[in-house]
Amino acid sequence: MKLIFEQSKSGRRGCTLPPQDIKGKAVDQLLPTQYLRTKPAELPEVDELTLVRHYTNLSKRNLGVDDVFYPLGSCTMKYNPKINETLAGLGGLTKLHPYQGDETTQGMLEILYETQEYLREIAGMDGVTLQPAAGAHGEFTGLKVIRAYHVAQGNPRKYVLIPDSAHGTNPASAAFCGYSPIEIKSNADGNVDLADLKKHLNSDIAALMLTIPNTLGLFDNQIKEIADLVHSAGALFYMDGANLNAMLGIVQPGKVGVDVLHYNLHKTFSTPHGGGGPGAGPVGVVKKLVPYLPVPVIKKEQDKFSLDYNQPKSIGRVKGFYGNINIVVRAYVYIRMLSGAGLKQVSECAVLNANYVASKLKAYYHMPYDKICMHECVLTGENQLHANGVRTLDIAKRLLDYGYHPPTIYFPLIVHESLMIEPTETESKETLDEFIEVMIKIANESATNPDLVKGAPYTKPVKRLDEVKAAREPHLKWTPAK
Ligand SMILES: *Cc1c(COP(=O)(O)O)cnc(C)c1O
Repeated sequence: MKLIFEQSKSGRRGCTLPPQDIKGKAVDQLLPTQYLRTKPAELPEVDELTLVRHYTNLSKRNLGVDDVFYPLGSCTMKYNPKINETLAGLGGLTKLHPYQGDETTQGMLEILYETQEYLREIAGMDGVTLQPAAGAHGEFTGLKVIRAYHVAQGNPRKYVLIPDSAHGTNPASAAFCGYSPIEIKSNADGNVDLADLKKHLNSDIAALMLTIPNTLGLFDNQIKEIADLVHSAGALFYMDGANLNAMLGIVQPGKVGVDVLHYNLHKTFSTPHGGGGPGAGPVGVVKKLVPYLPVPVIKKEQDKFSLDYNQPKSIGRVKGFYGNINIVVRAYVYIRMLSGAGLKQVSECAVLNANYVASKLKAYYHMPYDKICMHECVLTGENQLHANGVRTLDIAKRLLDYGYHPPTIYFPLIVHESLMIEPTETESKETLDEFIEVMIKIANESATNPDLVKGAPYTKPVKRLDEVKAAREPHLKWTPAK
């Protein structure tokens, strides 16, 4: 496919305009001369149809949940129901101005308030803020709250304990909030090594941050014991709840000792993500931390909703205005559509689907922690690497030829050659069976014709990219050939 610049023909136009007949000074006479171009910009010159085809074809180069199975572990690429978009797009919601007074925005405030209440109930917390714009931003907010709490007790403390199976954003967020992260080991079951946790707990520890389910897709069944240990040192228990998809209606983290948790609306609650689009990472806290939540707080008195800025202990704002509220509206629609037993069924099916894939594939791909997983399973390409010299990267590239978005690879970091597969509950058994068949086919190809797998992809416009160079030395500007 040619670049739009390569399709350019000098003088070609996509539209015809009548000659300029406005009386008075021309635009270039109105603007200060230092801002005017001395020679015209080098823009592509194409006809309208060429333009439309170019961008339509470019848009088809993308892989998304709406066209392919997208089992990207840890990311929950579930289907985003279109009714979310329709309702979030209603003029009464999209045309609000953030400076409008409470009395003219009662409907939106009610939606936000109710979403807050649903999230509170889902995780068993006492207070929720909707402000943070993403999961990592939620971690930042939660840790700021934790810091404010410890400061109020007289000592902010110094360290945050983070197991090696945590999400990579956790240590970064701790550092951002002025804490040094300390790594805690996992045991042979993939859970927190309690002996290592005990060794590190003392009065300098501000919090433990636990990703649940962890990045091995496992639920740590020692959670109560962990909470008790953390609390006995005067520290707080932060749960990274980005992957709450696995436990809706099954576990309320607030009831098993969690003090602070963030939700990823753009994972669990089916709002779009990827491509850097807006997300939402609300944070829930237990009662003693509620006064520290960001302002404004959305309040309900009788049947009136209002924004309350008078919270003297609050950490302040973490986002302009009230958060990405149109993302919150989508999550609200999703929760309402699944009211009743629906949310619990979401988690049951997410867990069932992941275990189905794992049980069908573990005869072909090594499974380092062979036990019941939650919403995602971690396999590896170790068998293929040792027997045939085929790496996990090759397997992922080969999946592209079969029309799939590859799963997450080489993460979690504690698993060699890992393949982290998250099917989500929105996929049918037929889709999973087709994917399983293709994965088995690739395992067979690795044994019988390893070079075929190592040379993949064959069906894409580009083959293997230098990913390090692409990140470190991006070449983003087209320069005309001399
Ligand atoms: C995705 C994810 C995050 C980060 O969320 P963002 O919205 O990408 O900032 C944090 N923790 C876990 C476990 C995640 O899966």
